[in-house]
Amino acid sequence: MKHFKTKEIRIGNISIGGGQPMLIQSMTSADTLNTKSTVQQCIKMFETGCKLIRISAPSVKAAQNLSEIKKELAKQGYNIPLVADIHFNPKAAEIAARIVEKIRINPGNFADSKKKAKRTDLTVQNELEEISSKLIPLLNVCKKHHTAIRIGVNHGSLSKRILFQHGNTPGGMVESALEYLQICRQNDFHDIVLSLKASNIITMIQSNRLMVKKMQERGWDYPLHLGVTEAGNATEGRIKSAAGIGSLLREGIGDTIRVSLTENPLHEIPVAKKIIQYAQKQPAHLETWWMERPDDTELPLVLNNKKNMADLFVRDELAYDQMQHRYAMEKAQRSASGKLSGKLKILKASYPGLALEDIMIRATMDFTKPLITNQCDGIWIEGDEEIPADKINEIAFGILQATKRRITKTEFISCPSCARTLFDIEKLLEKVKKNTSHLKGLKIGVMGCIVNGPGEMAGADYGLVGSGKNQVTLYKGQNIQKKNIPLEKAVKELIKLIKENKEWQD
Ligand code: SF4
Repeated sequence: MKHFKTKEIRIGNISIGGGQPMLIQSMTSADTLNTKSTVQQCIKMFETGCKLIRISAPSVKAAQNLSEIKKELAKQGYNIPLVADIHFNPKAAEIAARIVEKIRINPGNFADSKKKAKRTDLTVQNELEEISSKLIPLLNVCKKHHTAIRIGVNHGSLSKRILFQHGNTPGGMVESALEYLQICRQNDFHDIVLSLKASNIITMIQSNRLMVKKMQERGWDYPLHLGVTEAGNATEGRIKSAAGIGSLLREGIGDTIRVSLTENPLHEIPVAKKIIQYAQKQPAHLETWWMERPDDTELPLVLNNKKNMADLFVRDELAYDQMQHRYAMEKAQRSASGKLSGKLKILKASYPGLALEDIMIRATMDFTKPLITNQCDGIWIEGDEEIPADKINEIAFGILQATKRRITKTEFISCPSCARTLFDIEKLLEKVKKNTSHLKGLKIGVMGCIVNGPGEMAGADYGLVGSGKNQVTLYKGQNIQKKNIPLEKAVKELIKLIKENKEWQD
């Protein structure tokens, strides 16, 4: 597909857009005030292939320390372009814009009015004027220092004004970006990259497509940074990222990507590389198979060429052989007589010679589109013999869950953590998963900080959100249930709350 051609934006010694190679970026999780550990992390990330590094600047002090980090990196021979990540603090943004090459602002919380007054067209206009008054000084600093800006919209933190006008929708996300873009353009500032991220991959895909459409209507060509937020870790995090980012890259949308995992940021980079590489290759051939609908399973089906098939009613070797024979017969029948009526359409792809993570990424990128456009009733992923069937099944069910076609387990919404995280989020997420993964249909958030966590896990039924050193606050939906629980008691309290609400399943 034709690539959406964007303009080139300089970020220090690199560029985004304008046909430049797809750039991989990530974010540090070390404390920004700890120069040594942030610098060490930056160097490791850069050496692994991350060419643009974002660092959280939650306070004026942290923004000022970016200068020490820059100096130390230069001293060690690294001229790595840095991005300051700003929420709720225009002052910190102005300081950081004098030091680093790019500023990321979130229109949902950069300068939004916290007033609870009932919104009308007039108050909306006043709020936009208030935003301009805070954004224009930053634009002036950026112009003077040749600093670029990413207008980074997150589905989970849309402003109250946007929610009032457009709702919690892909359209609302695009309007949120357009408001800020308009102010930048009116002030003749164009060094802009856009991002529209969501944890729900369908929302993420739709909002980016819509953003491109709106830009094309206006003749604009700002580069797009792609990412799926709060994707979690392990198989789930990789699948969500490949589904959202990979699908858009295949459509020719995107100039730079960040895979967000609740893991060491170094783990994100190989995944990002694999997504980019596969987006440039021919997708796997999807074979079509037809079969009778089994009586007792939900759709879409998951098929597997091993005996311990996830969804198949085949329990022994003989039945397995019979099933293979039946498929072959049905396939032959179909080619002879055209479409089989009343049969289930199964799409099958084979990934010979590939390791598990490669299968995970490729199968996700191959099956996402047919699943979200409802083109099949089942998927069949085939890997090499030595790859255990349960691993392949985990991928297949993960893809169905990420594309919202079939929910078979708890959904975890978990941030990648950053300098605001004051506890071991990876460990807590693992513990929560171990105890609650069987709660089919529930969404549980595990978030690094109280500043952005509650908003970003919007949609979660329950959540644990970092609220101090080794402390978390327990949420039901967006409502606080218990504050500052010591980390070791967090999972117990979560389970207790789920049980009290009669949502526990044994
Ligand atoms: S929610 Fe997570 S990634 Fe986002 S600011 Fe808080 S700790 Fe950082």
